[in-house]
Amino acid sequence: MGEIKGFLKYGRQEVGHRPVEERVHDFKELELPLAPDQIRRQAARCMDCGIPFCHAAGCPLQNCIPDINELVYKDRWRQACEHLHMTNNFPEITARVCPAPCETACTLAISDEPVLIRHIEYQIVEHAFSEGWIRPRPATRRTGKRVAVVGSGPAGLAAAQQLARAGHDVVVFEKDEHVGGMLRCGIPDFKLEKHIIDRRLEQLSAEGVEFQTGVSVGEDISVRYLHKMFDSVCLTMGARRPRDLAVPGRGYENILFAMDYLTAQNRLNARKASDESPLLTAKDKVVVVIGGGDTGSDCVGTARRQGAKKIYQLEILPEPPESRPPDTPWPLWPRIMRTSCSHQEGCERWWGVMTKKFTGYETRVGEVHGCRVEWIKKADGWKIEELPGTEFVLKADLVLLAMGFLHVVHEGLVRDLGLQRDDRGNVVVDNCQTSEPWVFAAGDTVNGASLVVRAIQSGREAATAIDGWLKSG
Ligand SMILES: Cc1cc2nc3c(=O)[nH]c(=O)nc-3n(C[C@H](O)[C@H](O)[C@H](O)COP(=O)(O)OP(=O)(O)OC[C@H]3O[C@@H](n4cnc5c(N)ncnc54)[C@H](O)[C@@H]3O)c2cc1C
Ligand code: SF4
Repeated sequence: MGEIKGFLKYGRQEVGHRPVEERVHDFKELELPLAPDQIRRQAARCMDCGIPFCHAAGCPLQNCIPDINELVYKDRWRQACEHLHMTNNFPEITARVCPAPCETACTLAISDEPVLIRHIEYQIVEHAFSEGWIRPRPATRRTGKRVAVVGSGPAGLAAAQQLARAGHDVVVFEKDEHVGGMLRCGIPDFKLEKHIIDRRLEQLSAEGVEFQTGVSVGEDISVRYLHKMFDSVCLTMGARRPRDLAVPGRGYENILFAMDYLTAQNRLNARKASDESPLLTAKDKVVVVIGGGDTGSDCVGTARRQGAKKIYQLEILPEPPESRPPDTPWPLWPRIMRTSCSHQEGCERWWGVMTKKFTGYETRVGEVHGCRVEWIKKADGWKIEELPGTEFVLKADLVLLAMGFLHVVHEGLVRDLGLQRDDRGNVVVDNCQTSEPWVFAAGDTVNGASLVVRAIQSGREAATAIDGWLKSG
């Protein structure tokens, strides 16, 4: 424990953000880090609660949060950095995009504001990079075993790094032209600037991980080739099948999946595309985002930066409560109202609404038609009922579908390998091993669309399972 009674002495200090009027004109990150003495006080709030639920129940990676806080409090940054990397390959990424389930599970959060865990993580890892403490850690002994990792999102990268450090020869195949998965093409730069990924990739390359981009496994490379050339395979292909909206008028060309829209802007930021496509920009348009989650919020922030005239975000679920509801008591992750930085930049949020159809002119959508709905609990679960007389029509120049993802793409590799899938379409695994013993899987491919922190945890777990399997063979 850092400072006895520190939690009584100091309050939580939130991280600042660049002013809205400044940040909406660029795609740079928003957060303004706290100063070192402020961080020390924040670490001092960690109260040695005995059973640290932040670590045991909150953080999927089980970061040793109380130990890390104590080291920061004692100014032992280098050790704090080592502790952080014992469980997390990419703390600089979770420190930026993690929703921090550790904080909602913090014991202090029962009666007070939780410890500022995510931002302490940010400070440690950025301090470590600036001091040059984060260096390649190549394996001292090679095993001669070859592992292919399919997909370079956080799950694939974590698996690749762990496997390379265990001495295996690792090749990461990525069908996109750049490495990073959703980190690169989905998450906007204002949450995660892409040089942050590149900085870490240098470490992976120096540790011996080979990257082959622009290679779609199952298309450009066959299962036969994989089997012949590699001892094992780790599938980390994400959950890329988007949930669609099968209503009349869906076919208009300016109704886009959120990922296509966000990827286009990320490519533009990375100068991989030279010009804004008129179809893909929100400039001077009324934008309707369908889906009230994080992807929808990212669309809101992107549309605002592109110069949208007006932005609506529609969600079919009812408006969540402001404070923790009884059905998700501490330390569980509560369904509460969350207002993101993108929402603060200007957007009208509608709750409990259902989209019924789209109308338009020639190839372009012009209106979204919907109605209000009510959720009613019946014996066989929640049912949705349309409320008569609540029909509405919203003018729209661009509609973005951000209703989540169903599962991994089955066509190609998953089918060719004949892998067993569950009712939701995810690849079934037992200790990360699929129904094909030499094939392992991790990340959204097995969990369904989830979080970066879970993808990293799952990739690490798969690496341990593969390493064990290779050693036993
Ligand atoms: C817009 C958006 C914003 C998000 N924001 C957050 C956030 O703020 N915080 C958070 O925690 N999570 C966020 N997420 C979720 C998070 O990004 C994912 O849960 C995470 O990236 C999943 O990691 P993964 O490695 O399993 O898959 P992915 O990141 O999806 O990576 C899979 C990779 O596999 C590649 N691939 C697929 N098939 C093949 C093939 N046959 N051959 C070669 N390569 C292939 C894909 O091109 C892709 O690069 C967000 C998701 C989206 C879409
Ligand atoms: S990775 Fe996420 S859940 Fe884990 S300590 Fe960091 S912010 Fe918390």
